[in-house]
Amino acid sequence: MFESLSDRLGGVFDRLRGRGALTEADVRGAMREVRVALLEADVALPVARDFVEKVTEAAVGQNVLRSVTPGQQVVKIVNDALVEMLGSDASELELGVTPPAVIMMVGLQGSGKTTTTAKIAKRLSAGQGGRERKKVLMASLDVNRPNAQEQLAVLGTQADVQTLPIVTGQQPVDIARRAMQAAKLQGFDVLMLDTAGRLHVDQALMDEMRAVADVAQPTEILLVVDSLTGQDAVNVAKNFSDQVTLTGVVLTRMDGDARGGAALSMRAVTGKPIKFAGMGEKLDALEAFHPARVAGRILGMGDVVGLVERAAEAVQQDEAEAMAAKLAKGQFDLNDLRAQLAQMRRMGGLGALAGMIPGMAKAKAAMAGGGMDERILLRMDAMITSMTQKERTKPEMINAKRKIRIAKGSGTTVQDVNKLLKMHLEMSTAMKKIRKMGGLKGMAAMFG
Ligand code: GDP
Repeated sequence: MFESLSDRLGGVFDRLRGRGALTEADVRGAMREVRVALLEADVALPVARDFVEKVTEAAVGQNVLRSVTPGQQVVKIVNDALVEMLGSDASELELGVTPPAVIMMVGLQGSGKTTTTAKIAKRLSAGQGGRERKKVLMASLDVNRPNAQEQLAVLGTQADVQTLPIVTGQQPVDIARRAMQAAKLQGFDVLMLDTAGRLHVDQALMDEMRAVADVAQPTEILLVVDSLTGQDAVNVAKNFSDQVTLTGVVLTRMDGDARGGAALSMRAVTGKPIKFAGMGEKLDALEAFHPARVAGRILGMGDVVGLVERAAEAVQQDEAEAMAAKLAKGQFDLNDLRAQLAQMRRMGGLGALAGMIPGMAKAKAAMAGGGMDERILLRMDAMITSMTQKERTKPEMINAKRKIRIAKGSGTTVQDVNKLLKMHLEMSTAMKKIRKMGGLKGMAAMFG
């Protein structure tokens, strides 16, 4: 997600950082480019304008321009403003004090509402996100779309989450009552209500939604919107939030959204926090939305915390810790790269991870000509296998002759070897940068 915006901003900031001293005109010029980049990412015009104004004002301050690293300071100001635009803190789900906590899901048809209902249910019942395992019941109130209730039941089986038995002909408010009763009697911690979707915002369904909310008294009313619809998603959110008290937004299809306009303007336009991002069709493709980490990804600093978390889910704890330690040390040779490539294969491939690893988004672009799929990961592994131990720890010794040998040994070309070495260099430079900021701790402090 955010690839195109990240590329554009990366270019602007590389130029800023490349200069020793900055003038006010430099900063203003860069901010004009930032504004264009935001608009191209489909950020709402007033939001982009506000953002750029705020950042410019802070960045042309004398302290910034006179500092030793003005470019770096400007990036930090942009980072802070991005975090603010995205909504500051990560907002956890509110589950109230007396169970069952009711989470009501609303949204347009096809937005991914039913899938997201099952994803959240699965996450809560598996104890993901650092919370305890909850006993979760799901119920579909969608009596309009044929098979909607059955669809949720199927997802329930896949997610290993119980669903309310279907009673044909029962109306939404009555289903909600029955679900509440079942949840109370059977000791469920959380009840998830998947309401009827709609094609567009229409009055009858809005009334129904309010009636259900009256009966169920949800602690969360989450609106599900498709991030690929850009500003439409933001308008839909505004419409819904005029009708019911939304507590948050879930943006789906972020896996396919290179622009990110909806994510970037959602908070500013609707005042509602984005709580989760849908990252794929599978039931575990859901990420908690952490503004600070997302800003880090957009600015190409990676999301080291998210990466380590993801690793912890996919690999042994000790492996994850070793990886975190390496990232923190800023040391990174080709043996480490190889270990990471192997982990990446286990963690669902590069597509899912590229934005999280410092320097990786850039490296990925450098490997252009074919996506970074499983095959490429294996080829990179073969190249590292063909190197001597010494070459792996001291890649700078790999001269033209050695490159030819490595290419032959791995069935690749010298060009491929060059790309691999360039990628490694990009990554280790990015990691050194993090180290300079004081390691992970420093980065955490910088990102608030
Ligand atoms: P609903 O009509 O709002 O309930 O939508 P569904 O939950 O039935 O989802 C519609 C389609 O979108 C399904 O094919 C889902 O698999 C797909 N989908 C949902 N969320 C995501 C997501 O985050 N990423 C991707 N790529 N597909 C998604």
